[in-house]
Amino acid sequence: RELIVAIDGPSGAGKSTLSKLLARALNYTNIDTGAMYRCVALAAFRRGIDPADEESLGSLGRSVRIEFLRSNGGERVLLDGEDVSAAIRTPEISLLTSRVSACLAVREAMVELQRRMGEKGGVVLEGRDIGTVVFPGAEAKFFLAASAKERGRRRYEELCAKGHDVDLAQTVSEVEARDAADSAREHAPLVQAPDAVAIDSTVMTIDEVLAVMLEEVRK
Ligand code: C5P
Repeated sequence: RELIVAIDGPSGAGKSTLSKLLARALNYTNIDTGAMYRCVALAAFRRGIDPADEESLGSLGRSVRIEFLRSNGGERVLLDGEDVSAAIRTPEISLLTSRVSACLAVREAMVELQRRMGEKGGVVLEGRDIGTVVFPGAEAKFFLAASAKERGRRRYEELCAKGHDVDLAQTVSEVEARDAADSAREHAPLVQAPDAVAIDSTVMTIDEVLAVMLEEVRK
């Protein structure tokens, strides 16, 4: 039977790495829901929409076309047909995404899309509210955490590897600011589902976390 697997947690805890590996191991489809919110933020930025203008954000969220393309060069994200995989990852768009994703109408539009993409099972969805809001009935739920310092360091290395000119201390404080906003927001704040398996990846290797997840999914 093809399951729905939810991976939630703060930024930099290893969700995207682990959900890709887990999906590959199970031969499931991986759905990066953060990339979907990032697409809405990028579209809003390009159109000059004020992040406080909930009505415009809502209609934007309902009208954008978001697709995931799996090529051998990795996973690509298309916004209205354009490959925006790199454009949605800049520090500027990351911070804007946190604001845009606090808008209820945007969340409703994204949750609907995510449910349509995942309802048949055979999917690993990663985000902040998968196990609590999108698929509260998911058969396997994980809450992946790590210390803020370690999460900031990982994000810093990821950005450096992509050629961004960033500062470590600033990246750590940006990660902390984003998590504080994601946890304090009114709609779908980042919280651990009561039935989620919590994994602290601070001092674990990727392979160790993957092994724990695979064992849980195969139970
Ligand atoms: O996971 P990622 O860092 O790409 O997510 C970017 C932002 O999108 C998060 O900081 C959060 O504000 C938002 N997000 C969300 N709900 C999700 C996934 C991401 O609100 N399910």
